[in-house]
Amino acid sequence: MKDTFKHKGLRQQLVNIIEAKGIKDEKVLKAIGKIPRHLFMDSGFLDHAYQDKAFPIAADQTISQPYTVAFQTELLEVKPGDKILEIGTGSGYQTAVLCELGAKVFSIERQLELFKKTSKFLPKLGYRAKKLIFGDGYKGLKEEAPFDSIIVTAGAPFVPKPLLSQLKIGGRLVIPVGDDVQVMTLFIRKGPKEFEQQEYGEFRFVPLLEDKN
Ligand code: SAH
Repeated sequence: MKDTFKHKGLRQQLVNIIEAKGIKDEKVLKAIGKIPRHLFMDSGFLDHAYQDKAFPIAADQTISQPYTVAFQTELLEVKPGDKILEIGTGSGYQTAVLCELGAKVFSIERQLELFKKTSKFLPKLGYRAKKLIFGDGYKGLKEEAPFDSIIVTAGAPFVPKPLLSQLKIGGRLVIPVGDDVQVMTLFIRKGPKEFEQQEYGEFRFVPLLEDKN
């Protein structure tokens, strides 16, 4: 678990790349510049960790592209102390970004192998999510609701109703919606039944799956 000068240099280049692609939030850029992404990847991909690309992790899943992580995080407008629900813990990289921003993070993963691996790994790096949960993100996390924001890091064929209903008034849901290609969609809860919806272009994610394993 080494983080060398070389890694830090490559990481700064990555920050410059995603800034050039349009990410403006200084706190998000700082978090990307701080988190050792190479440690979240399988050893075979170490050399690629600071390219702005998604890469395979265990269980046929991927660690999202850094630009995508930054884009979704920027849309969340995280404030320190925010209670955030993440669907799709995966490698834990996005979880770490949210922790860096001072959020209280609850994160759900449906692949047992990844859930176990990431539950052990994140605390070793000093990232303590409030709770990592093995379960189905389509249901959200009723017992901890409402949330300041919810982020879905897999492609959702439709918007799960429980996620909308578990937002605080004023809360934000960032979710890529679609089958083969997803449209990044932001919902802001304006009232008990009113939601404002904004769309932010196309992205590609692994699918949000409904049945366990
Ligand atoms: N945030 C992750 C991205 C991982 S890819 C990272 O930074 O590495 C998306 C993840 O969503 C995968 O790990 C996949 O297993 C998980 N996933 C898919 N469907 C799910 C569901 N219904 N509930 C919870 N997690 C799910």
